[in-house]
Amino acid sequence: ASRELVQAEKLAMTGKIARTIAHEVRNPLTNLTLALEQLKEEIPADVEDANLYFDIISRNAERIGKLITDLLNSSKPKELSPVKQSLNALVKESLDLVKDRLKLKNMAVVEEYASDLPDIPLDGDQFKVALLNMFINAIEAMEAELGKLQVFTYREDNYVILEISDNGKGMTSQELSNLFQPYFTGKKEGTGLGLTTVQNIIHSHKGRIEAESEVGAGTSFYITFKTQS
Ligand code: ADP
Ligand code: MG
Repeated sequence: ASRELVQAEKLAMTGKIARTIAHEVRNPLTNLTLALEQLKEEIPADVEDANLYFDIISRNAERIGKLITDLLNSSKPKELSPVKQSLNALVKESLDLVKDRLKLKNMAVVEEYASDLPDIPLDGDQFKVALLNMFINAIEAMEAELGKLQVFTYREDNYVILEISDNGKGMTSQELSNLFQPYFTGKKEGTGLGLTTVQNIIHSHKGRIEAESEVGAGTSFYITFKTQS
């Protein structure tokens, strides 16, 4: 237990450092991005090299921006403002935000919402951040044309369950066991902070999150809330 405590303190410390750096980097990055947009206006469309380099700079600035967002999200102490609301509505709203992306890649979406769910105290903004992270992971794991994202809600005894499944590349049991670790990533340009954030958010809602996966077959996440009664 004391080893866990040391580990927790270390994580809190790392989080604090990450947060400070992220804040410090954000302002100059915003300035850089704005200046870049200005510069883009000045580059004549027929100067190919200049436009190529411009795109490289802008892609990399975007990548730094994403890292900063992930760092800030993952290390933020979660202060919730929960409001009793419909889980189904919140899931639909979040899914709508990635539908363009799914359509662009010709991926299918299957949604089934139980109509008898009790309202759950949820912080809408934070819960949406969690769902978006999971949907984007699913999209990144699937192949265009073949991808199918499935989203179900249902009741089981005193529990409300949200299931998010994809038929993407799946994970080994080794990957699965590291899934929620900060900075664990299987991607070339990943931050490995997405699911750390997701888990923080779900846990601060007193929910549970579990994953199942099979290489080549896909991955399922189960988010579970106990209903009061
Ligand atoms: P990132 O997306 O930046 O890599 P995450 O914390 O969101 O960080 O995810 C960590 C890793 O877990 C991913 O890099 C990937 O290897 C694995 N992973 C997460 N979700 C899925 C999924 N739906 N299918 C397959 N692998 C996944
Ligand atoms: Mg991610």
